[in-house]
Amino acid sequence: MVDESTNLRSVVSSAAPKLAAGRDLHTVGDLLRFWPRRYTSFDADLTSLHEGEYVVVVADVRDAVTRPMRNRRGRILTATITDGTNDMEVTFFKPYGHEGRLVPGARAIFAGKVGRYGRTWQLTHPDYQILPPDSDGLDARRRLLPIYLQVPKVQNWTVIDSLNLVFDQLDSVVDVVPADLAAARGLPSRLEALRGIHQPSGWPEVERARKRLRYEEALVLQTVLAQRRHRQAQEKTLARRPREGGLLAAFDARLPFELTAGQREVGEVLAEEMARDTPMHRLLLGEVGSGKTVIALRAMLAAVDAGGQAALLAPTEVLAAQHHRSITAMLGDLAEGGMLGGSDIGTRVTLLTGSQSTAARKQALLDAASGDAGIVVGTHALIQQNVSFFDLALVVVDEQHRFGVEQRDALREKGNQPPHVLVMTATPIPRTVAMTVFGDLETSTLSELPRGRSPIATHVVPGDNARWVERTWERIAEEVRAGRQAYVVCPRIGGDDKGVEDEPFLPQEVDEEGNPVEAPRELASVYAVEATLRETPALAGLTIEVLHGRMPPEAKDAVMARFNRGEVDLLVSTTVIEVGVDVPNATVMVVMDADRFGVSQLHQLRGRVGRGQHAGLCLLFTSTDAESALVRLQAVAGTTDGFELARLDLEQRREGDVLGARQSGGRNSLEWLSILRDEALVDQAREDATALVAADPELAAHPDLAAAVAEQVDEQQAAFLERG
Ligand code: ADP
Ligand code: MG
Repeated sequence: MVDESTNLRSVVSSAAPKLAAGRDLHTVGDLLRFWPRRYTSFDADLTSLHEGEYVVVVADVRDAVTRPMRNRRGRILTATITDGTNDMEVTFFKPYGHEGRLVPGARAIFAGKVGRYGRTWQLTHPDYQILPPDSDGLDARRRLLPIYLQVPKVQNWTVIDSLNLVFDQLDSVVDVVPADLAAARGLPSRLEALRGIHQPSGWPEVERARKRLRYEEALVLQTVLAQRRHRQAQEKTLARRPREGGLLAAFDARLPFELTAGQREVGEVLAEEMARDTPMHRLLLGEVGSGKTVIALRAMLAAVDAGGQAALLAPTEVLAAQHHRSITAMLGDLAEGGMLGGSDIGTRVTLLTGSQSTAARKQALLDAASGDAGIVVGTHALIQQNVSFFDLALVVVDEQHRFGVEQRDALREKGNQPPHVLVMTATPIPRTVAMTVFGDLETSTLSELPRGRSPIATHVVPGDNARWVERTWERIAEEVRAGRQAYVVCPRIGGDDKGVEDEPFLPQEVDEEGNPVEAPRELASVYAVEATLRETPALAGLTIEVLHGRMPPEAKDAVMARFNRGEVDLLVSTTVIEVGVDVPNATVMVVMDADRFGVSQLHQLRGRVGRGQHAGLCLLFTSTDAESALVRLQAVAGTTDGFELARLDLEQRREGDVLGARQSGGRNSLEWLSILRDEALVDQAREDATALVAADPELAAHPDLAAAVAEQVDEQQAAFLERG
């Protein structure tokens, strides 16, 4: 019996060692997953040939001669092949083995790149396969020929033949899609799909097969999510309702602005969901500056009012510190619970990060464990084992795209009962991506920006144009004289940390052959730019500071605090300021070597300016000539629609990156499905997965699907552990 685990040696004895050595193809399953790179349709005759084109033709050998070469040692075999009307020449410089086969009268199918010698069309060292006499070529059904990645020492024919042998003997393959579901969706079985890929009769069959393979991947992903949703719906937790005259009421009463309609609406949804005894699982999407933090804070206060605690998980130390500072400031004496002069309904807001002093950390751990801190703000450090809460009621995860499901879970486990969860992200994501990455969450969107928000103008500046550059610094000086502040963002840190960067920026662009599209250049670094700016006459007298991820945390905090207070005019930094930093008085941002940042990243970055009543200005410096980079930058300059930019960004990246680290690298990462393109399939798969899990939560009736789901989950966990 032959199945996917059968060793290839027992099916295709002669080719097996070469397939194993050349491309790691050991089993029948390996060969079945050796997908064709493309297809070529084969030509019935030699009427229309083009130089350089890959052709597949059926032809007869008319004559063949082997003779010594004139100027070199060795012999050459030249055969003339014909379709009956047109001729072409086939040459082999090492005729051994070919002489006996390419004899006059033989019929064969030849494949290779067409060359030209004088007026003669030629194929040099083509792949060929001798056909039985009087054969009219391939099976009439097989008009499309799969072309595989070159296996060293193996002809494309041999791969095709090996697959033919496999399909002749193959009894069954593992099929994760329940048969009735495939039938209902009009999709072929996996075995049929594999045949459609490797032995297609034509394009329609290839397309049908591809569709089925895409659906299969979508179904596995969506089943993982459907099971999560199902489990979450079974969970029981404590309902958390704010109380009359509590913290939330006091906070609302002193809010310096009015909530937007959107903020109120989302606030009500959260309140209602937290008042239920099944945990909330909600995603809040909202552009940078749309006012998510206030919403989260109000939910946290409701949790505290109900006697519980709230944890806010931030992706970076800078952002955690910033949240801690702004929440404390917004709460005023409400954040001085238990302290002299504090409000008697007040609570305490504690910061917990990995780089705190031991004493501060000890105190924070104590506050969290004793329940003295109603709100604990922190980084990854919150997830660590030694952190415990008295009664964790609500988990808020800010800028979720930096975290995985696993981190969210790790924090959730710290509740005495499952806490309510609110995830917030400013990255606008296309619907199907959200359905996949955040598929276990219900979604709310904040579409309206708070009133008084100013527009951001963005321009691309040629960084090698001295006059423009000079003008830019003058412009910054003008802003500062008008009382405002500016950011200068660089891809590198420089100084002693030469070569180290906070965020992986884009690698240099390469063309299809892998050659760089432009000469390498030194990228702007924080320290080099700082030095230059200090020497720039237009900026004389300005207070310039640097900020990057390699600085000691206290130094970082100190700089941010000074920038917050307006004591720093110009902050030269890496992308550490990308996420969530909120200084309304900052109005200008210059991004050095902007071509090295992704579209969404640039959009996030510029969201740091124009947060107050003054218009924002973002200048994208670049010295690239690379067409694609310039197109990207112009797109950023041309629109502030984050959704449109996110789409553009995703289209330019590999699908694995779309889903985050968890998908890339894994052997089972998406091979067929494109979450952007295959919207209808993702929808269908989600619907089907939901129905399957509702009827059979543990997939007892579908062991193959259950196994694929388990493998997917394992892989995600492995990726999580790897990232640490
Ligand atoms: P996000 O986290 O969504 O990027 P923030 O919550 O940091 O946005 O809000 C950005 C700024 O807007 C903050 O300074 C905040 O105080 C302010 N803000 C929030 N909601 C409103 C509102 N309804 N009216 C005026 N200002 C607001
Ligand atoms: Mg924010």
